[in-house]
Amino acid sequence: CGIVGYIGKQQAYPILIKGLRRLEYRGYDSAGVALINENCDLNVYKTKGKVDNLTEYCSDKDVTGCVGIAHTRWATHGEPSARNAHPHYSQSHNLAIIHNGIIENYADIKAKLIDKGVEFKSDTDTEVLVQLVEYIMQKKGITLLEAVQVALYQVIGAYAIAIVDKRDPSQIIAARKQSPLVVGIGQDEFFLGSDASPIIEYTDKVVYLEDGMIAVIRLGEELKVMSILGEEQELKVKKVDIDLGQIE
Ligand code: GLU
Repeated sequence: CGIVGYIGKQQAYPILIKGLRRLEYRGYDSAGVALINENCDLNVYKTKGKVDNLTEYCSDKDVTGCVGIAHTRWATHGEPSARNAHPHYSQSHNLAIIHNGIIENYADIKAKLIDKGVEFKSDTDTEVLVQLVEYIMQKKGITLLEAVQVALYQVIGAYAIAIVDKRDPSQIIAARKQSPLVVGIGQDEFFLGSDASPIIEYTDKVVYLEDGMIAVIRLGEELKVMSILGEEQELKVKKVDIDLGQIE
């Protein structure tokens, strides 16, 4: 299972697919990608099986866009299927999320959201996260970052996540608890990976996100890392040795 992300000036899709292939060694049962194109459409494509199935499926789709997230899934909640594969949309289709790990209290949160009228499209624990973030954003009228903080405060479990919002396509929000996540810092571009292997061919400057941290990845700004409570952390940028790309 793996996570890849890109935001910058290049087309994201080829970078994301290459990244997924680099993470194939971790094992997976399905794969998917979310891209925000020039018109701010958020396109999500996902398939059961290999990354090759995904690329075949995408061959006649719009895969343009300079921001995107991609995922290989190892199912824990919900059978392996295209429907349960990541990314997952929020109800409004404004947000898309990818997640590695397990949300232990998902059933509780899901029941509460269904009560509020939220409709779920998958059987995964993951979808609860993106629906909760959207619900909080709308209810409280707060930003994506703030809503992610509030949501993660309520969540019990292990996660590495990345979220994009089509209303604000110059940002990716990522966070981790127990599952690894690495941000690569390039020239006016950023990369995201479960480990450094999808990143090292583009940049040797990486930040290994520490447990319980959120990364605010915004084009044209410095990478920001903060706790769930919003306490900013000093950036610990490491130079990764090309040959040691997979060592944390
Ligand atoms: N628990 C999530 C699911 O079953 C994520 C699995 C993973 O780590 O790939 O969809």
